[in-house]
Amino acid sequence: MTGQVEDRREDWEGPVPVPTGSTAPFWAGTLEGELRYQECECGHRQLYPRAICTACGAEDPPFEASEGVGTIYTYTVCHVPGEPGFGDRVPYVVGAIDLAEGPRLLALLDADPDDLEIGAAVGVAFWQVSEEAAIPVFVPE
Ligand SMILES: [Zn+2]
Repeated sequence: MTGQVEDRREDWEGPVPVPTGSTAPFWAGTLEGELRYQECECGHRQLYPRAICTACGAEDPPFEASEGVGTIYTYTVCHVPGEPGFGDRVPYVVGAIDLAEGPRLLALLDADPDDLEIGAAVGVAFWQVSEEAAIPVFVPE
């Protein structure tokens, strides 16, 4: 499954990710609507991407495509912007999402806070914010 990629380059004022060596495959995937995590030969799965496996230390764990679905582990409604560029976005919601494949990641939840609950199913979408990157956001299913 792939998530929808929306072009937000005109109105995005938040931080823009800069792909580096170990994160480049991840960000390349986001432009195609694909959420990629790393699965090491030792069986450990991780996201966000790192140059080494956090479980066994192996270098450059290979990437796999996530189904892009998960559940809300927890979330918080931010009334004070944590980033200067988010000033006109408050209140916004940041959630810890447990992907179906296991890794947990922090991401924006694109939803009305009143519509959210812990344990609810969410799916990934992407906001393209540069030529190089789209930010994964989650929406209730
Ligand atoms: Zn490993």
